[in-house]
Amino acid sequence: MLTDLQVAIFGGDARQLEVIRKLAEQGANLVLVGFDQLDHGFTGASKMDIGEVDFSKLDVIILPVNGTGPSGEIDTIFSNKRIILTSEHLKRTPEHCHVYSGITNAYLNKIISQNGKGHTQLFDRDDVAIYNSIPTVEGTLMMVIQNTDTTIHNSNTVVLGFGRVGMSVARAFDALGAHVKVGARKPEHLARISEMGFIPFHLDHLQKEVTNTDVCINTIPFQIVTSDVISKMPTQTLIIDLASKPGGTDFKYAEKRGIKALLAPGLPGIVAPKTAGQILGNVLSQLIGEQMSTRKGKV
Ligand code: NAP
Repeated sequence: MLTDLQVAIFGGDARQLEVIRKLAEQGANLVLVGFDQLDHGFTGASKMDIGEVDFSKLDVIILPVNGTGPSGEIDTIFSNKRIILTSEHLKRTPEHCHVYSGITNAYLNKIISQNGKGHTQLFDRDDVAIYNSIPTVEGTLMMVIQNTDTTIHNSNTVVLGFGRVGMSVARAFDALGAHVKVGARKPEHLARISEMGFIPFHLDHLQKEVTNTDVCINTIPFQIVTSDVISKMPTQTLIIDLASKPGGTDFKYAEKRGIKALLAPGLPGIVAPKTAGQILGNVLSQLIGEQMSTRKGKV
């Protein structure tokens, strides 16, 4: 239980509602900033403007998945008010106050380090990334179905990268009857790809491996689907790029060649915000609980 803990939750999207629900269930005292247009109320939670928050009482600050904007703006779909998180706000928090966000940026890193706060980027964690790969794969299947006139079954599908997302994508397409080839660079990845029954290839040979591709799914956050690679693909190939912005595809060249290439960021929040929020809520309640026990142990 998180009883007596003061947690401020700043803005976000539908995922944040699941985080609020989970932490409220655990008995935390919640301050909600950027939720004035949300009709729903939560037990133990008070909606406030940022100017009304007593930062000196906060044990935990939970930011939206993207952290902040480049100048501290907090994105929220539940308010039209402009909310800016500043270094001054963090300065007022107790020494132990910990900040959580999905990802970070230069601004957030700067104000956190200026004030010596602990910070956890949830999307860096393997458990979050693996759980998140489930809605990501479902979103990928949706996009492929929407953008092709053939079945996934029997398609030649190339998956690039064999990390947390790539492995889940390869498994799902294989289960639907696609012929799945996976490109990676580490020998242990190539061995595992083979062990799982997919066709492995080294990324050095990417150009010759895409000549009969129907669907190419990139998970590598690096320019890998270059114009040289795209020029070897059949024109009916569909490229879905899952890698974080700007993706790993030469989108301009793909368009010039008449090949459909789609950057598909944020699929969990789009196709399954409730599940994606539950994933974050579960991990946050565990991490905050651990943080609280460690602090009690020190007192
Ligand atoms: P990950 O576990 O770190 O896997 C990344 C893969 O890319 C690994 O196989 C890695 O291979 C490979 N890679 C990285 N840099 C490379 C390079 N320069 N050359 C060749 N291979 C390289 O990451 P993940 O969790 O699977 O996520 C993959 C991407 O998807 C990330 O950009 C993430 O932000 C994004 N993502 C998108 C969505 C969405 O909705 N679109 C959802 C979740 C995640 P090595 O091990 O050899 O480095």
